[in-house]
Amino acid sequence: MDARAKVLFTQHQQTIFRRTDRLFALLLFLEFFFGIAVAYFISPLTWAGGQSSVHVHVWAAIFLGGTIVSLPIALALWNPGHVATRHVIAVGQMLYAGLLVHLMGGRIETHFIIFGSLAFFGFYRDWRVPITASAVVALDHFLRGTYWPQSIFGVLSPESWRWAEHVAWVVFEDIFIVVACRQSLKEMQEIAERRSFIEQVARERARDIAELEKVREDLGEALSAKDTFISICGHELKTPLTSMSLQTQLTQRTIRQGKEVSPERLGRVMDQTDHQVKRLLRLVQDMLDHSRVQMGRLDIYCEAVELRGLLVDVIERCQSEADAKGTTFHLLEGPLVWGRWDQFRLEQVATNLLTNSIKYGAGKPVEISVTGDGKTARICVRDQGLGIAPENLGKVFQQYERVGESKHISGLGLGLFITKGIVDQHGGKISVTSEFGVGSQFIVELPMELNHSVDGEGPSRSRREPYSEFIPAGRAPVLDPSPEASL
Ligand code: ADP
Repeated sequence: MDARAKVLFTQHQQTIFRRTDRLFALLLFLEFFFGIAVAYFISPLTWAGGQSSVHVHVWAAIFLGGTIVSLPIALALWNPGHVATRHVIAVGQMLYAGLLVHLMGGRIETHFIIFGSLAFFGFYRDWRVPITASAVVALDHFLRGTYWPQSIFGVLSPESWRWAEHVAWVVFEDIFIVVACRQSLKEMQEIAERRSFIEQVARERARDIAELEKVREDLGEALSAKDTFISICGHELKTPLTSMSLQTQLTQRTIRQGKEVSPERLGRVMDQTDHQVKRLLRLVQDMLDHSRVQMGRLDIYCEAVELRGLLVDVIERCQSEADAKGTTFHLLEGPLVWGRWDQFRLEQVATNLLTNSIKYGAGKPVEISVTGDGKTARICVRDQGLGIAPENLGKVFQQYERVGESKHISGLGLGLFITKGIVDQHGGKISVTSEFGVGSQFIVELPMELNHSVDGEGPSRSRREPYSEFIPAGRAPVLDPSPEASL
């Protein structure tokens, strides 16, 4: 039996013990009054000549009977279920049965109360209780059969073995009761085991249902996040496409009208188109990288890279976007930091952090530092912008998560997710500290030692465009739909 089945079995047994204790308390109580009534009706008075007084049987029924039943009744009421209680009840019930036999003059029919009581003890389903009761009966029959036979057998000189015959019948009944008790215990154990099993199955089902519910909720959230992402994507892709379509229509209209397009204006249109194309390219690149990170297929190709120089390049490329927002970059002085990393991907990391510091930096200065201690290289980007509320800090690296005020600023909510994917792939880590309304600090830590697990051959920088090529130069053009304004 497992532990739970044992508990259930014990609980069931206790319920039975308590219930049977109370049953016997009632039985003894009723027997007590029955004994007084029997004594009163059979031998109410004793005569000495013409003088009569209350018969000793009546006093015996009241006082001896009261003494016999009081302890078992008290224990049954105040300590039900205890092992001592049921054995005291067994002793009390059998002594009282013996008293009743005496009060009724040792009539053989009265002996049935002994057999009836034994059958009742079967209610306990504890085979030891009828044994205790039988021991009392055997002793009582032996002593009274030897010294006071009239009291128990109703005759003055019974056969010497008569007590043994009575006891033998008691033992005969005991055999059935003991067998029945043991069988009943076995059934109770089986019931407890089955209940324990059912409880376990129910618990497992409840756990499965909770897990399914969680999966359902997660799926619901994922679906709604996907929907939001698709609508943001659509919006982000539509803006540059609309702008380009407008430019093309305006140019076509000007040409159809036979007007001359000056080279400067044509150059401006080309610049604007280039700006929107780069914006589109970066969006598409982010979407592709997002699914690569999601599928764990973001490969990196390591080569010798100097991190400070890489940051200088990215700062330069982001400069016009920063100028448009009034943001100034301050790269702190420091030594060169060499390591083997994927140059293209680290440019992507730096670009994401710097463009975020422009987007969410409220036009305030941004401090950048690049350090290395031989083991770990650190890029730190600190802005003094919107900041991130403490409850949102954990969310910013998750896909599609856009928090706080930033929801009004254009973005897909993928940049930091991809950035984290790249840093993880390098065996590094990214963290953020922030104070809401004061600013944020993003720290990227990269292992400087050659890492065989991430090191690999791949397209070198010369074969891949630098990631910062995707950064659109300057402020996105504000379109004026009049052909004159544009051309
Ligand atoms: P996007 O900028 O396209 O929304 P990111 O993954 O780069 O996506 O950033 C996720 C979110 O983290 C942003 O929407 C913004 O709420 C928050 N965040 C990122 N960088 C900063 C920052 N420097 N200051 C404040 N919030 C930031």
